Amino acid sequence: MAIPVPMRQLFTYKLPESIPQTDIHVGQRVVVPFSHRTVIAIVININQQLPDNIDIKKIKTIISANQEQTQLPSSLLALLSLCANYYQHPIGEVMQTALPALLRKIDTPSALPNMQWFSCNEVNQDDIISMTKKAPKQYQLYKLLLQHNGLSWSELRTLGFSKSQLNTLEQKKIIVQKEVVTPTYKWQDGLNEKDKLSLSTEQAIIVSAIDNSLDHFSCHLIDGVTGSGKTEVYLQAMEQTIASNKQVLVLVPEIGLTPQTLSRFEQRFNVPIFLHHSGLNDAERLITWQQAHLGCAAIVIGTRSAVFTPLQKLGLIIIDEEHDSSFKQQDSFRYHARDIAILRARQLNIPIVLGTATPSFETLNNALQHKYQHHKLTQRAGNSIQSKITLIDIANQPLNFGLAKPVLEKMNNTLVRGEQVLVFLNRRGFAPAINCQECHWIAQCQRCNKPYTYHKGQGLLICHHCAGQKRLPSQCPECGSIRVTPIGQGTEQIEQHLQEQFKQFSTIRIDRDSTRRKGELAKILKQVTNKEHQILVGTQMLAKGHHFPDVTLVVMLDIDGALFSYDFRAAEHMAQLLIQVAGRAGRASKPGKVLVQTQYPQHPLLQDLVHNGYRHFAKQAMLERQYAGLPPFGYQALIRAEANFPSYPEKFLRTIASLNFEHCEVAGPMPAAMEKRAGKYRFHLLLQAKKRSFLHQALAQLLVNIENNEWAKKVRWSMDIDPLDL
Ligand code: ADP
Ligand code: ZN
Ligand code: ZN
Repeated sequence: MAIPVPMRQLFTYKLPESIPQTDIHVGQRVVVPFSHRTVIAIVININQQLPDNIDIKKIKTIISANQEQTQLPSSLLALLSLCANYYQHPIGEVMQTALPALLRKIDTPSALPNMQWFSCNEVNQDDIISMTKKAPKQYQLYKLLLQHNGLSWSELRTLGFSKSQLNTLEQKKIIVQKEVVTPTYKWQDGLNEKDKLSLSTEQAIIVSAIDNSLDHFSCHLIDGVTGSGKTEVYLQAMEQTIASNKQVLVLVPEIGLTPQTLSRFEQRFNVPIFLHHSGLNDAERLITWQQAHLGCAAIVIGTRSAVFTPLQKLGLIIIDEEHDSSFKQQDSFRYHARDIAILRARQLNIPIVLGTATPSFETLNNALQHKYQHHKLTQRAGNSIQSKITLIDIANQPLNFGLAKPVLEKMNNTLVRGEQVLVFLNRRGFAPAINCQECHWIAQCQRCNKPYTYHKGQGLLICHHCAGQKRLPSQCPECGSIRVTPIGQGTEQIEQHLQEQFKQFSTIRIDRDSTRRKGELAKILKQVTNKEHQILVGTQMLAKGHHFPDVTLVVMLDIDGALFSYDFRAAEHMAQLLIQVAGRAGRASKPGKVLVQTQYPQHPLLQDLVHNGYRHFAKQAMLERQYAGLPPFGYQALIRAEANFPSYPEKFLRTIASLNFEHCEVAGPMPAAMEKRAGKYRFHLLLQAKKRSFLHQALAQLLVNIENNEWAKKVRWSMDIDPLDL
């Protein structure tokens, strides 16, 4: 039994007499007592005989077994076990990740196994009208069934409906209960041929390569410049899979991308498409999960955790923007959805497609070693051309609120022509710090030892590391001076200045603050497409996949930090960001321009990127990694530890560092980049090996030690395999 507790083991329970053995299956959810609670567990093995080392008297009994159709399929169970092993994470917690929240709760009702509720085709309209007035809940139920035809009683009950509501509607012949048989509906009939674009030669070659590999595992990297028509390749590559009634899983980085992507998929495929992302509520997520599980969802589009969706007849996996770091989960179970997706494709013997304009070095290295099929799209699709990137030297010229004069002039020219401008700055808020002009005091978060960010709109100082808040002081607490002023710029400030500078045009800000409300981002994106705004100011939210046909000028501010970072991945990430943001310019028929403000225009990294492009840059940077034995040429694991006292995590990690690991280098313990965060002191230890197997041997050794390590109880520690941020 896998139980959601942070222990790296399975547990044994016995069946009560009330539950016949035929009612228990591997992958099933059961309710069991654990410690002083009852929890949902997942059956991993069924044994007739007790293992020798277990005392029958100590074994507890299963309380109940859920009989609805929520059994995890064996292939998914196998995948999750592999993941638990690979990431050295407690198996019960890994299994929980694959369950939607509502199925992690005890009180999900058992259901009629194969019966589902449907809305009737012909209903009395008077009944509907009276229902809207007198029985809103019944009306809600009816509408839900109209949308998602075929929901089980267990799902409906979980969604808050009652048996009596169902009975009433059934008597009025508004809904009906039917046994579900495997869908007879042919997805092939849902392919919409008329919107299909005629492919360029480069695109066509990729689609046929994927088509030719549908019956076995193969990994395809589509390394295509921004705007080269990768999405069109995905769409056409999906056709055959869907036509043979097999499912497609599409992973995308961010929720912001989903509305656009979804509408393109919906236009092309008139088949059941379901979404999975953090913007859905628990009930909606359960529906996606269930429809995928039953084999009724033809396409599932989702973010990171959608990689665990149970799909009965999965035939193809697509990962858009494979380089995006949001595919990596950064807390508790720290998995990488791209890597798991590849594992899953291999396990099911199906193809997987990774698309990006800026491949991660991990992926590029695999492609260069011919482990993946490396497809290139070198031209932009249609009649659009690649934008030219120009570096603007700001070391020797005055800035007007962060913008150089030639930049403002170019912006003006663009706006006057009736085109749009995008200004990128990866820093939310009004200013990254405030200080006292007299005594140079800086407002710092005491829990993180980092400056507060000033959010002018809210009149607050907010710590971006722990979300701590404070009112803006009217006086310096050190010297009493009233000359407390912001230093540096964030998007809020740039937005304000641009509004003043270009009064005749409308400026809109797109960042996490301005899009917090549900539906706000979609609304703003629509306004931008309708040209209600001419200037877009935003953070990396703007970098991702958006298609703004009238943006012809992109301005990037303040990218210099990454040129001198301690993090060996900083250059890779900066290059990806720069190319992705630049890729928003000139995507339609009008040519685009990109201006990058920098203090270091001669920096070799920038020069290489601008003159030779991402691929050349990546190959050079990868050579450096290879010399240093860094990923993807070496394998890393990071052990993190934190506690209220700085000496604890350090001592804990020191005991681990002193273990004798074979074929494995150990660095640290050292303070994390954010040494203090939310009041906790943080240290880490880095393990690095030339082979993955060496690393895993070391981790196994380390886990044994931790079990008896007294310091382990005094700190919070975690393990991060293939860490992305150090
Ligand atoms: P990417 O995903 O590579 O950034 P998209 O798939 O969004 O690029 O394509 C960019 C634009 O080019 C879209 O408007 C798309 O409709 C168009 N496009 C793609 N393929 C073709 C084609 N074969 N012929 C004409 N236009 C195309
Ligand atoms: Zn002062
Ligand atoms: Zn803080």
